[in-house]
Amino acid sequence: MKPLQRKPDWLKIKLVSEQEAQHFKEIKQMMRSKTLHTVCEEARCPNLHECWASRTATFMILGDICTRACRFCAVNSGLPTELDLQEPERVAEAAEQMGLRHCVITSVARDDLADGGAQIFAMTIRAVKERLPFCDVEVLIPDFQGNWDALYTVLDAKPHVLNHNVETVERLSDRVRAKAKYRRSLELLQRSKEYSPKIPTKSSIMVGVGETWDEILHTMDDLRAVQCDILTIGQYLQPSTKHLPVERYYTPEEFDRLREEGMKRGFSHVESGPLVRSSYHAREQKEAAVRV
Ligand code: SF4
Ligand code: SF4
Repeated sequence: MKPLQRKPDWLKIKLVSEQEAQHFKEIKQMMRSKTLHTVCEEARCPNLHECWASRTATFMILGDICTRACRFCAVNSGLPTELDLQEPERVAEAAEQMGLRHCVITSVARDDLADGGAQIFAMTIRAVKERLPFCDVEVLIPDFQGNWDALYTVLDAKPHVLNHNVETVERLSDRVRAKAKYRRSLELLQRSKEYSPKIPTKSSIMVGVGETWDEILHTMDDLRAVQCDILTIGQYLQPSTKHLPVERYYTPEEFDRLREEGMKRGFSHVESGPLVRSSYHAREQKEAAVRV
């Protein structure tokens, strides 16, 4: 296994102001009191202060233990906890307290549940929309193991954006993502568009796990072939020495070129940069998608 490499300068994170630090502390306490989880915190996302200050956050529902163990992901894997039917209402309360304008809801993969947790996703979308009619609700869903009724349950709750990540190029998919399938992910995005044509679809690629430039472009073509609207591209960062090593750090200029390649292919919005994560600038991405 390769040792952790020294990160280039452009991945260094901005200093946090006192006010931002205080805001973070208060929100963190509120999350604890409601036994809620955010990806922002769990993944130690480098954009946390910026996102929370601009009223965007990503909730992780259905517990914090995943039935899968992807080789890039820092979430704990194992046997999940039982279902918490009150969680959707608590997420809505927290979103209201944070004054969110764009609320992203994602989950661990719950392969132990017949519907993969789709019903709880739907309940959470409805609860947030009811409490915060002017807040956009984006869902970042797992593949539900190809259970398309579960996908339609989520779409019936009418999220503002349906996001499902392919994460990497087809050749590396089996190695990087446990139990997920590249073609199944594309099918999910295609079915979403067929079932709910007005809901923008979105996907994400992390680069730096051993893909070639041409493979990234090919992945963009595959996503456009299923009419995916929004694409995000960010640098993979190794969470610990047990995770996949970083094969390469892309420069900010390369991320700019990838954005151009994506826009040329017809995505309505491409967010591309070293620290870009799936939900980074999520509100701006959605606004660009509905403008076209
Ligand atoms: Fe949270 Fe996403 Fe922003 Fe990171 S990019 S802080 S996960 S909303
Ligand atoms: Fe992480 Fe999602 Fe993979 Fe679970 S399915 S290990 S949460 S990336």
